[in-house]
Amino acid sequence: MEKMGSVLIIGAGGVGNVVAQKCARIPDVFSKIVLASRNIEKCRKIQQDVQEKTGRVIGVAQVDADEVAQTAALIEKIKPDVVINVALPYQDLSIMDACLETGTHYVDTANYEPMDVPKFEYKWQWAYHGRFKDRGIMALLGCGFDPGVSNVFCAYAQKKLYDQIDTIDILDCNAGSHGHPFATNFNPEINIREITQNGRYWEKGKWIETKPLELSIDFSYPEVGAKKSYLLFHEELESLVSNIKGLERIRFWMTFSENYLTHLKVLQNIGMTRIDEVDFEGRKIVPLKFLKALLPDPGSLGENYTGKTVIGCVFDGVKNGKRKKIYIYNVCDHAECYKEVKSQAVSYTAGVPPVIGAMLMIKGIWKGQGVFNVEQLDPEPFMEMLNKHGLPWKQTDFQSSILEK
Ligand code: NDP
Repeated sequence: MEKMGSVLIIGAGGVGNVVAQKCARIPDVFSKIVLASRNIEKCRKIQQDVQEKTGRVIGVAQVDADEVAQTAALIEKIKPDVVINVALPYQDLSIMDACLETGTHYVDTANYEPMDVPKFEYKWQWAYHGRFKDRGIMALLGCGFDPGVSNVFCAYAQKKLYDQIDTIDILDCNAGSHGHPFATNFNPEINIREITQNGRYWEKGKWIETKPLELSIDFSYPEVGAKKSYLLFHEELESLVSNIKGLERIRFWMTFSENYLTHLKVLQNIGMTRIDEVDFEGRKIVPLKFLKALLPDPGSLGENYTGKTVIGCVFDGVKNGKRKKIYIYNVCDHAECYKEVKSQAVSYTAGVPPVIGAMLMIKGIWKGQGVFNVEQLDPEPFMEMLNKHGLPWKQTDFQSSILEK
């Protein structure tokens, strides 16, 4: 008999929908599921969809996760084994505080962000390590696809494929089409903050900064072909630099269409991506938050989305004295995701991994006391579950020289 458990999911957006749908399909592990968010109507809509798809009735609740006392009271009432935080990065610390108060394990998919400045740093959450350890509970950070599965691929390469990894390139391609002139695939605020900051990569012991989207390559992705991919800083680089031993270089690349970049440039030029407050008719508004209100909800993009995402890592290093280049990746189809869980592939690829992380924690396969990044845990059971739960991966020899300097 498998160990069963209960889960509280916080955040009823595009990713929260996938987490709820997937947990509901694994009743032997998630015997009780509650979905809570700021707006309970969004939870009710997902509750109805989950029931239609799986026949299971999940619980719903209203919570403002910025309020520690409110969140702790909800956790106390539901008594979940694990809280999966798929609200926004701004809520990470208050939800971690509520988990500490109640002695409950914690999983998220994005690092804490202060409201006023985009940082994409783990320092605030790593500072919780001692308190989680003393409380005897575990926090699993950044367990989405990237960060998340990208870290698992790196840990797997380190454990099974290499004696020494010299370079890692993480490549994230969305070759899909949603039919809107402009939309972001996950929370617009977080997405635009990430892209408009300076790029950064790590080489020979130091960080090298670039202008936003300054460097690009034409990378040939399996199943979708060559796509222009831009170098960004992405949060998993920070933890992987510490946890993958002897790395010489690590970079992160993401595809953007010309159309997307043109829209973004105009929005930037007219100040719509600003994250500081401006006066508007006697009130203070943050332009990026206002823009979010105008853009399509990422959770609503799924219905007519076609095409695929391809996300993976290229490794270069040495095994048994021989140089090897290996590419590990997943291909995910937007329309198939919609058929399965009423979601596009970006939310799907981000929503399945925290379910796997929570499942490994409930089963006691991944355990620890303190705060952990995904690559600090055994990658093999996770890799096995990816194949079972909708994100199958492939491993191939990598022939191209495109990633060499
Ligand atoms: P959405 O904006 O679609 O959803 C966020 C949800 O959180 C909304 O339901 C929102 O409620 C809720 N929320 C916001 N503030 C609070 C609060 N104070 N209390 C309770 N609920 C709140 O975002 P996504 O679903 O696209 O993304 C969710 C998370 O997943 C983000 O942190 C994002 O960065 C991360 N992500 C990670 C990826 C990865 O691969 N690692 C990839 C994609 C996303 P309301 O509707 O009321 O605003």
